[in-house]
Amino acid sequence: MSSGRVVIVGAGPGGMAAALAAHRVGFETTILERYPEIKAAGNILNLWPPPQKVLQLLGVNTNDLGAPVHSVFANHRGRIRADVRLPDEVVREYGGGFIGLLRPGLYQRLLEALPAGVLRVGHNVTGFEDNGRNITVHVQGQPDIETDVLIGADGINSLVRETLWGNEPIREQNLHLVGGYLLLDGTQPAEGVISHDRDTQGSYTAIRHEGRGGYEWWVLRAWPHDKPFTEDLKAYAARYAAPFGDPLVSLIAQTPSEHLQRWLIRDRKPLKQWSLGRATLLGDAAHPTSPYAAYGAGMSIEDGYFLARELAAVDISDTGQVRAALQAYEDRRKPHTAKMSQLAYQNGIMFHRLPRPLQPLRDLIFDHTPFLQKVIGDQMPADIVAQLSEIEDPPAPQ
Ligand SMILES: Cc1cc2nc3c(=O)[nH]c(=O)nc-3n(C[C@H](O)[C@H](O)[C@H](O)COP(=O)(O)OP(=O)(O)OC[C@H]3O[C@@H](n4cnc5c(N)ncnc54)[C@H](O)[C@@H]3O)c2cc1C
Repeated sequence: MSSGRVVIVGAGPGGMAAALAAHRVGFETTILERYPEIKAAGNILNLWPPPQKVLQLLGVNTNDLGAPVHSVFANHRGRIRADVRLPDEVVREYGGGFIGLLRPGLYQRLLEALPAGVLRVGHNVTGFEDNGRNITVHVQGQPDIETDVLIGADGINSLVRETLWGNEPIREQNLHLVGGYLLLDGTQPAEGVISHDRDTQGSYTAIRHEGRGGYEWWVLRAWPHDKPFTEDLKAYAARYAAPFGDPLVSLIAQTPSEHLQRWLIRDRKPLKQWSLGRATLLGDAAHPTSPYAAYGAGMSIEDGYFLARELAAVDISDTGQVRAALQAYEDRRKPHTAKMSQLAYQNGIMFHRLPRPLQPLRDLIFDHTPFLQKVIGDQMPADIVAQLSEIEDPPAPQ
């Protein structure tokens, strides 16, 4: 077993998964979360098989965590443009493709798995210093905390990232998403349909939450990031969902108003280097990703697993070994996370910000050639299979 101290800033999905992974290999692990309680900021969520596999390895109960969904990309009239079909053995193990769930359901399962004493809420980190041998973390109104390794899992506006690498501007995508969910009795078809008309994405997937089924849906369109939004969310979603017809239209109509939310879509350009000295980043702090990928939370969960695995292989009292481990971690994670976040960014432009004269041409290609099947329908399963094979615990020592 490893020894030494690991402090994680932020108790989102990435921070909690990293804490589980670090604790599991023997580190004295602490999460510092600024808010007085752990509350999921948001509701709708999908998780692909690789983060599901990590959660299982970390001892998180994934039983009935979400609805196993087979997903397709379509146009607003229902014409299939890409079918995301995973290999049979992956479908058997993890369900149809991704699972559809609610964010609070994931947080609850992560919290249940966290050992007592690891999480400290109401701890707002205000700064830190790395003296080469260890790191001193400053927490508002609390005594300083010393650690051997500091992990910034503090989201898109990461203080750890800014302290290490300065303030890089947020990339406003000038898109917004209005989404919601409803829980229903009985069984629902395990399907997810991601569909687009000329300038709107109107999508829905089955979900499970606390033993009940239902649906989550979202409507995504261009919207200037600095323009105030005052319209009723449901009326707005219903208006732009109308061309998609049922079931989207009726799902929106049945959604209780308190289950609707709106987000501006933003990310940052991939960072060249994440780690410095004894500190590193993970999840949105390292690679904020537009919801177009439906993979930001998934990648943050995977990051924590790979990071703990590298740290477990070295003596973290030795600064040179810590640096090498952090570098190995980010070298492994950067290509995949940069690819996903850039793809999500480009998809946002392609579907919503293309000049008007090019839009019919784009849709002609998407509707009548195998282009989307190749770049999404075939590529995503290949990426998922590759990620799954990387997530393997090393054999136990003899
Ligand atoms: C509308 C929408 C839909 C999405 N859908 C999906 C999806 O389907 N699938 C998917 O995988 N991803 C999805 N994402 C992306 C996903 O939500 C994020 O990528 C994910 O939450 C990142 O997790 P994280 O742990 O890195 O950071 P966060 O979830 O942002 O957590 C950061 C934590 O750090 C804390 N913190 C910040 N600063 C400090 C400080 N100074 N001191 C102490 N604590 C601090 C915060 O309070 C917070 O708890 C979606 C995002 C949006 C907006």
